[in-house]
Amino acid sequence: MKNISILIAFLTLGVLSAQEKSIEQRIDSVMSLMTLQEKIGQMNQVNGRSAITGPNTYEPEFEKIIKKGMLGSVLNASGVDYTRTLQKLAVEETRLGIPLLFGYDVIHGWKTIFPIPLAESASWDLEAIEKGARIAAIEASAAGQHWTFAPMVDIARDSRWGRIMEGAGEDPYLGSKIAAARVHGFQGNDLSANNTIAACAKHFAAYGAAEGGRDYNTVDVSERTLRDIYLPPFKAALDAGVQTFMSGFNEISGVPATGNKFLLDQILRKEWGFDGFVVSDANSVAEMINHGFTENEYEATKLAVNAGCDMDMSSLSYYNELKKAIHAGDVPMVKVNNSVRRILRVKFKLGLFDDPFKYCDNKREKEMILSKEHKDIARDAARKSFVLLKNEKQILPLNKEIKKIAVIGPLADSKRDMIAGWKAKGEPKDVITLLDGLKNSVARKSEVLYAKGCEIEGDNKSKFGKAIEIAKKSDVIVLAIGEGFGMSAENRNRADINIPGVQVELAKELSKLNKPIVVVLFNGRPLTMPWISENVPSILEAWFPGVQAGNALADVIFGNYNPSGKLPVSFPIHVGQTPMYYNYKNTGRPIREDSFNWQTKYLDVPNRPYYPFGFGLSYTTFQYSDLILSKKGVGFDEEFEVRVKLKNTGKYDGSEVAQLYVRDLFGSVTRPVKELKGFEKVFLKAGEEKVVTFKLISDDFRFHNIDMDFVAEPGEFKVFVGGNSNNVIETDFFLVK
Ligand code: BGC
Repeated sequence: MKNISILIAFLTLGVLSAQEKSIEQRIDSVMSLMTLQEKIGQMNQVNGRSAITGPNTYEPEFEKIIKKGMLGSVLNASGVDYTRTLQKLAVEETRLGIPLLFGYDVIHGWKTIFPIPLAESASWDLEAIEKGARIAAIEASAAGQHWTFAPMVDIARDSRWGRIMEGAGEDPYLGSKIAAARVHGFQGNDLSANNTIAACAKHFAAYGAAEGGRDYNTVDVSERTLRDIYLPPFKAALDAGVQTFMSGFNEISGVPATGNKFLLDQILRKEWGFDGFVVSDANSVAEMINHGFTENEYEATKLAVNAGCDMDMSSLSYYNELKKAIHAGDVPMVKVNNSVRRILRVKFKLGLFDDPFKYCDNKREKEMILSKEHKDIARDAARKSFVLLKNEKQILPLNKEIKKIAVIGPLADSKRDMIAGWKAKGEPKDVITLLDGLKNSVARKSEVLYAKGCEIEGDNKSKFGKAIEIAKKSDVIVLAIGEGFGMSAENRNRADINIPGVQVELAKELSKLNKPIVVVLFNGRPLTMPWISENVPSILEAWFPGVQAGNALADVIFGNYNPSGKLPVSFPIHVGQTPMYYNYKNTGRPIREDSFNWQTKYLDVPNRPYYPFGFGLSYTTFQYSDLILSKKGVGFDEEFEVRVKLKNTGKYDGSEVAQLYVRDLFGSVTRPVKELKGFEKVFLKAGEEKVVTFKLISDDFRFHNIDMDFVAEPGEFKVFVGGNSNNVIETDFFLVK
């Protein structure tokens, strides 16, 4: 081994073994041995997928780059054997043996695919969400991964944006809680364990505010909106210990996020004290040229490193240009040292210096992945994520003894669609479809008939006939419609968010038969569906539920599980209403209940959403009453309680997500009409009543005031509690100085 003398020097310094030394001392030791080239190497990440699937531009260089110590991280390399091969090159055939970091988009599972993140968010169940991320980490780590490019914590107020499916929806409070839960899930309690992976809060920042809902597009939000709406989930991820951040593709106020000093240095490092590292988004360093922000890769490298972007994902700009920029004095060495230190810190925390191969374990890979336990947890996550949008005449739950069920629609038996975009290693063959699930669950005497009816897209109605024929013979119709998997995720934006193709026409034909119909919706974003909403008696929002889709749906459809999901995003009536969100601000001519002419309005559609944020029904009903405060006048830093009686007034046991909203009536800057400040998922037996208690303190009402200070202001507040943002009971209180 040609690097033996260095290894001995390493060992003498105690770099590899000294448990008593702190990570910082160990980093110092490694860095004291590193050449400039090796330091720059740590700041490069390349795509490893190419090395297995075929050549691309830098493939022939791949092995050479690693051996020269010119590579810090690989993305999209998968499989224990492959990652072990690459890791061996880094550890055994480079001068210093610094291990590689393997990153992958583990967004909603590795092989046991869970519901898409937007769906999981509809559960409002932080424990379940954390568990989902934990399972994803257990599987991904068993397959050789150290790091996930998740969670995506971008607030999304625009349903046209394809990536709304990857986040937690429109609200900063809910988004913050979910961001923290996901970080805890991926990273566990001990990052150095072999079944935990580093998380990445992305895409910093305000990427979800892309104009017109078009991915990558210009973002122009005020600093106040940035800080009050878009940044809180990032801060929550940081407070939960997230190890890395990813800079967005977007520009913000004229500066691309990857070269944005204000974001990466001022806010993230100086104000928040983040000591992990920032990776660019794919090629976003070099893409600053297309933005018209820099002339060439040299300038892009200079701006990105100086702004605080520590690792270049796949543009190879740092690889090509950073040395020159340092020699020319355009990038100070201290910047490079800081970046390298941050990257090494994460590698040390993951324990990679102590055992670079501990993630490469064929036995674990075999045993853990897609285990029965993991599938059961995915099934539970899926049923928790379903939102019952409508259930007139209590068509749901269906009786298992029902004689004939017609299962119709292009999504009823589609395996691929259920695992959606960002499916990592998920495979359609492992999916239980709605049709499978219903067949598995009906009583033996019952019959399940199936017809596709039509495709998701296109105008072909030739299959309507067969669908109508089986529907005529059946007692109930379950109609599975919505979007295909390719209609949401990165750059899958839509200007029209209706249910595509002739699916609604199929529904219209079927409804003429006057049989009970249940629509099961599959989609990665809020859809506009006026006809369905007005005319179909029963609608279940299923999103993209993952590998256990059909089993979870059968649990809910036959009443073994009472749905309790609540929308984490508003569903507009019409796409023209976007951006749409519940925490809007009043104008001088506010929205009113009556049809007052001078309110802000459209001539052709109402202001309101069709289904508001927080909305979701149950098979039972809940009643809120007796909203009281422990104090009406509250001092700063004085804790107080909001209590409300919640009663299950229906015939089924069930869970309700009680939501607490607050309005600050007047401020040094205008305040939203409502802001979520608490929620509690409460299980109640039929007829049972409980008092739900929320604790609050002045810090909960902080916002960025006229001087951009993050403070609460004294004055009058309203507090609202209810089962969705639009149906609440209220009382008021004073915050006194
Ligand atoms: C996406 C990121 C992702 C990265 C690596 C980019 O195109 O924007 O979210 O993590 O690719 O796959």
